[in-house]
Amino acid sequence: MHVIPIPCLNDNYAYIIHEKYSKIVGVVDPSESSPIISFLNKNKLKLDYILNTHHHFDHIGGNEELKKLYNAKVVGFHGDKHRIPGINVTLKDNEKWNFGNSIIKILHIPGHTLGHICFFFEKEKIAFTGDTLFSLGCGRIFEGDHKQMLSSLNRIKKLPRDTKIYCGHEYTYKNAEFCTKYDFDNSLLKVKFEEIKKLRLKNLPTTPTLLEDELKSNIFLRCDQNDIKIKLNMKNEEEYKVFRKVRDLKDIF
Ligand code: ZN
Ligand code: FE
Repeated sequence: MHVIPIPCLNDNYAYIIHEKYSKIVGVVDPSESSPIISFLNKNKLKLDYILNTHHHFDHIGGNEELKKLYNAKVVGFHGDKHRIPGINVTLKDNEKWNFGNSIIKILHIPGHTLGHICFFFEKEKIAFTGDTLFSLGCGRIFEGDHKQMLSSLNRIKKLPRDTKIYCGHEYTYKNAEFCTKYDFDNSLLKVKFEEIKKLRLKNLPTTPTLLEDELKSNIFLRCDQNDIKIKLNMKNEEEYKVFRKVRDLKDIF
């Protein structure tokens, strides 16, 4: 499976996914159509599927034009069929769906929006996490609540540790600054921040990120850990209260 990040709008990523054997081509979260069209033209590809993690405009903005131009099918969460433009294929939590020779498992991960999903390619261990899990961050909670968002992140945490995480935005540098502020002595975070600085200087994407690295350096995934609780003066507090605190701190960072 080839996955190619396509920068869109200010800081969004759409991802072209290209399955080697069946030659099926998809795009995850096209916020706009023109960067996708020029990539497909340049590489002489046609588009078969549009996959949406959630209904926000910066993830579905290109749906209708791409659908019309390529006669592509739009794939999304069944609960959001009323607000994903052009949707053809509706999928449920835990449902498996064939993408060429690959199998995608749908994880319903509400919190950022109520209908947010993750596309998890089981064999390839590739996860498209949209605006739920970012590299060193997590999405804002717009429609759900903190408990929902935390249990969604905990679902992602249970994927294989060598899963590649492809997220919806290039927020990594700012996220690294935030993590560093509260998790100041985390040595892996320091190493990761140096890599991030190098990539961003060259204007290169910081995705994908390995789940294993995120588990060790993303403060939002570490709210169950005692060292984080102590750093936040929340020793013995419940994980979800720690998570709520960290999310609130990030909202004003
Ligand atoms: Zn969003
Ligand atoms: Fe977004």
